[in-house]
Amino acid sequence: MESLFTYIRRQLDTQYSVTEIKSLASIICSDSLNISTIELYTGKYTDLSADKAQKIQYILERLLHHEPIQYIIGTTIFCNLTFKVTPDVLIPRPETEELVNLITHENNGKVSILDIGTGSGCIAISLNKNLPEASVTGWDISKKALKIATYNNNNIKTNVNFKERDIFNLPPNTSEQFDIIVSNPPYVTEKEKEEMQPEVLYHEPSIALFVEDNDPLRYYRRIAKYASKALTTDGKLYFEINQHFGKETAEILQKEHFKEIRILKDFYQNDRIVAAVR
Ligand code: GLN
Repeated sequence: MESLFTYIRRQLDTQYSVTEIKSLASIICSDSLNISTIELYTGKYTDLSADKAQKIQYILERLLHHEPIQYIIGTTIFCNLTFKVTPDVLIPRPETEELVNLITHENNGKVSILDIGTGSGCIAISLNKNLPEASVTGWDISKKALKIATYNNNNIKTNVNFKERDIFNLPPNTSEQFDIIVSNPPYVTEKEKEEMQPEVLYHEPSIALFVEDNDPLRYYRRIAKYASKALTTDGKLYFEINQHFGKETAEILQKEHFKEIRILKDFYQNDRIVAAVR
């Protein structure tokens, strides 16, 4: 008789490689089913309780539709913290951890930080955890995303102030000032859709990902303009960027008279962060 693992592999092997199946099977068993690795490889599907068998079937079906495993189990790890994620928010990426680490290493003390387009709150909350004296604000246009961010803020016991704000439609006379502004805005062009995994393309929120081919940097121009006024003197701006637009993003910051503009690479050696000083 085949093992539980072999059973899972047989169900998924039209859609996933063996390496992917190994990792998915181990996540499903440990996170949602309380089944040990030994049971996965030596136990049998037919020996499972009706309840667990039904749960596995449900998860396998969702995986066959290429739902991201993080949405299926409902959480992901980012900067060593566990974040709730739903299809209302982008799944935090490892590249974005590098952005958080950079800001953490370059700043300290009672700084005020604004995260524009906060989504799950992963950047704002991790920064608040790493820089406990900072006062951190997170903005998003999506009420649904803000609900998740607020849940994560309570669950991780941080103190971020989340607000519903549209960067293109800010209330008049906002005079708030920040020492640091950070943003990972939508930056994937429609053209790049062809190369994307179905997990991303069909399940993650388009509003957090995509920009029109004819104006891929509109968020960056808008945020740079806003930051040139809302940052304190020598305040810092940090962007996560589309790897193909490092130079163009730096030029936007030059136009807004930022200084010390840097283009930094991620661990795949792609341009991923642009940082500057007001
Ligand atoms: N890095 C993400 C991806 O590749 C995109 C994040 C974004 O658009 N800000 O899917």
